[in-house]
Amino acid sequence: MGNTSSLLLREDEIAQIQEKTGFTPNQIERLYSRFTSLDRGNCGTLSREDLLRIPELAINPLGDRIVHAFFQEGTGDSSINFLQFMQVLAHFRPIKKNKDLKLNSREQKLKFAFKMYDLDSDGKISRDELLAILQMMVGSNISEEQLTSIAERTIFEADQDGDQMISFAEFCNALERTDVEQKMSIRFLN
Ligand code: CA
Ligand code: CA
Repeated sequence: MGNTSSLLLREDEIAQIQEKTGFTPNQIERLYSRFTSLDRGNCGTLSREDLLRIPELAINPLGDRIVHAFFQEGTGDSSINFLQFMQVLAHFRPIKKNKDLKLNSREQKLKFAFKMYDLDSDGKISRDELLAILQMMVGSNISEEQLTSIAERTIFEADQDGDQMISFAEFCNALERTDVEQKMSIRFLN
């Protein structure tokens, strides 16, 4: 009873995850116990509902979008295993060390952020999608008209081919001089 030691990862599993994500063995074990505590059914995978029980995500206005991005990143399944979970978390690691690791490169961070804005996953951010995200971020502090004008101005400034949408390339250009370490969303509220 209460056999918590069965929650331990094997050394080769830790090594594999370390190689793929750049997390240290200590961080991996800590996150693994976090993962298993979220895994209510003890099935080795997390569903969207499991992820939304993470308090930091539950109170984040973009939590739902972040969870959405977790599943985009995976195989399109309705649940993710520990390795997939860690690969997504790796995007949030600071860039400083292990520059050669792909997951937390600038481009990967931008891709991840882009997916949060691209609600219907068609590869472009529309005015309505931007508006929806702005509404989630600022709540009711700013009037609908002001938000609409911010969304329109942002699209106007970022849109280079004139299709009224922001493609991933346009998104990258718009954020070219932005420190990606900062919250991506702030740029759009300037
Ligand atoms: Ca879209
Ligand atoms: Ca465009």
